Amino acid sequence: MVTPFRQFVLKVHSRCDLACNHCYVYEHADQSWRSRPKVISAHTVGRVAARIAEHVRRHDVDKIDVVLHGGEPLLAGHERLDEIARVLRGALDGACQVDLHIQTNGILLDERHCDLFAEHGIQVGVSLDGDKAANDRHRLYASGRSSYDQVLRAVELLRKRPEIYAGLLCTIDVANEPITVYEALRELQPPRIDFLLPYATWDNPPERPSPTAYADWLIAVFERWNADGRPMSVRLFESIIRTTRGDASLSEAVGLEPSTMIVIDTDGSYELVDSLKVAYDGAPATGHDVFQHALDEVATHPGVLARQGGLENLSATCRECPIVTSCGGGLYTHRFRAGSFDNPSVYCADLVKLISHIRDETEMPAHKIPYAGLDSLATGSGSAADMERLADAQLSLRRALIAALRPRAADEVWELFTRLDRHHREALEAVLAHPYVRVWAVERLQGEGEATYLANVAAAAMIRAGQDVTLRVAAGHGAVHLPTVGTLHGVDGDTVTLVAQAGEIGTDGTAKHEWRPVRTVSCGDFSLVLEDADPHRDCHQWPAADRLDASALSAWRHSFEAAWFLIEKEYPQYAQGLRGGLTTLTPLAPAPTGRDVSSTARHAFGAVAAALPADPATLALLLIHEFQHVKLGAVLDLFDLFDKSDTRLYHAPWREDPRPLEGLLQGTYAHIGVTDFWRTRRNVVRGAAQVKAEEEFARWCGHTLAATGTLAGSQALTPLGERFVARMRETVAAWQAGEEAPWS
Ligand code: SF4
Repeated sequence: MVTPFRQFVLKVHSRCDLACNHCYVYEHADQSWRSRPKVISAHTVGRVAARIAEHVRRHDVDKIDVVLHGGEPLLAGHERLDEIARVLRGALDGACQVDLHIQTNGILLDERHCDLFAEHGIQVGVSLDGDKAANDRHRLYASGRSSYDQVLRAVELLRKRPEIYAGLLCTIDVANEPITVYEALRELQPPRIDFLLPYATWDNPPERPSPTAYADWLIAVFERWNADGRPMSVRLFESIIRTTRGDASLSEAVGLEPSTMIVIDTDGSYELVDSLKVAYDGAPATGHDVFQHALDEVATHPGVLARQGGLENLSATCRECPIVTSCGGGLYTHRFRAGSFDNPSVYCADLVKLISHIRDETEMPAHKIPYAGLDSLATGSGSAADMERLADAQLSLRRALIAALRPRAADEVWELFTRLDRHHREALEAVLAHPYVRVWAVERLQGEGEATYLANVAAAAMIRAGQDVTLRVAAGHGAVHLPTVGTLHGVDGDTVTLVAQAGEIGTDGTAKHEWRPVRTVSCGDFSLVLEDADPHRDCHQWPAADRLDASALSAWRHSFEAAWFLIEKEYPQYAQGLRGGLTTLTPLAPAPTGRDVSSTARHAFGAVAAALPADPATLALLLIHEFQHVKLGAVLDLFDLFDKSDTRLYHAPWREDPRPLEGLLQGTYAHIGVTDFWRTRRNVVRGAAQVKAEEEFARWCGHTLAATGTLAGSQALTPLGERFVARMRETVAAWQAGEEAPWS
């Protein structure tokens, strides 16, 4: 399976008008530039464009970056650059989004270039190492003359053309004072700064006055950038912040993402990453070119694959490194030593210090919902994005609960969590998202003793990830439950050694077990766990049903399928929220009177519990109603909407007994969903059903408006709570007047 290329560095001119002594093209081992055409020909550009178009179409790539590079690309001249952009845009038009860039030393940049780049949507990056003293250390003409004034002139031109000003590229020299460099660059108001570690290998290590001179230099800049409020993007720092939080890197300099970059030289030959020129003569060569080879062929070149293997392709030292998911072994070139890349980076000590510092100094992202999102949630349904924000916050909460239990977990279990988080995060998060994992964790934290069930959570995640596992897990009532996976029946004792191997699940004993996988209900592409086995599910205000027999299971499946069809068709505004947050449907024991029973539990985010109602429309109503409680619970986990010390009881129009303020708020919010259900239902059904729908709508409009009045008059709402309740009230008032809610 080929990993498609997404970044193309196209050499349009192979010579340069400067003679910077840190340049990897001319000043290092590889001297292949000597044999290349100076300027890329129109014919070669045509072949390049055709190869890229063929590649992106074959792999359905949605967006690519093409960087016009050199040497110095402006030496190609206005006409040739214009022609190159036209050919690329022409060939790739309609194939995918193409972001064009040019990386220049700026010496030749003029207004005509700027017009041309604006016309073709080409973003311009300029290489500049800081103030004049810093820049003059390396970036000189062959005569030794400074290039600084010329480069500054180019940057001033770009500052007047912000639509094409991409930023500055600064190669670090630790002899330069870091803050002076940073401030000189910041003054030029670049949208982005790229700090580049000097190209070096273990065979040609960088100039280094102290063991971590580069980390110390970058940390000084990071501190100032952070204190300044991060006035521009700094790709290296942002990549480190992102990778320490598990997100993708923005740069090849750090992170474990596969490289998707290929270089194409002026003669049409494909080359590996350009910086390899510092390793040895011929290091970047692939032996392939645009005339004879498709990009798919070069995509399987060992040199390309070596930069795509993630953790497996790193040295043993890196694989064991605690910050490897953030560092990723650093830039590939920096690992070279005596013919091999199987080493940590020559900047390893710097990377350890820099990444650890940024990780420790950067706050974890706060979960936020914009006011517009909260307003939209107050209308009843909320948007898919709001639901995603709430679900993300719930995941963080569960992670915090699990982390709080770490002192009560066996070391081997915690190591498994660490491994899962690093390599199988999706599987781990799917198990952590199970509503009753939080219920268990909260119960456990309120009591004492071991947190043995953590092993069940870890084992479930391992099985979901398709991994074998042998682990001592918690058992009870003759069974081992693995959340979201299933239950193993026929075991003895409080703990057993679970053995999951090649899809078979058992124990290390010889007894016969019965494995009962978790069952689901579904409609189309949406499915939920039908939870009738989790030992922690009995937390609702009504007893949970026992395991369903075949006929009860079939009834639930049919009813859910029809109910979900109805929700998708008639209540799409609720369907999007349910899709984003509802994971589990928990059958409750039927009420002896046959009345409808449904419930949620404060800590079971994602679960709705109900006894099977008489018809699918009622199930749809129960799902919408109860999920309102789930959503509001998640909002209350993030925000204070009322004074928690208020102990008064309030009248709710739909029940006899008075309620605490939170109960009244919960009930009102849930009944806004009910009101909305009947509002739509009036237009769906006919005859007596329609009369009933009208009555129910009028009844619930009255109840919810009265309840929002009680809430607003309680004097116990926070300013945010007042806003939330006011939106609820305006919503129902609008419905009552036959209008749409103003915040929906
Ligand atoms: S810090 Fe060093 S050992 Fe760790 S991943 Fe990076 S290069 Fe490898």
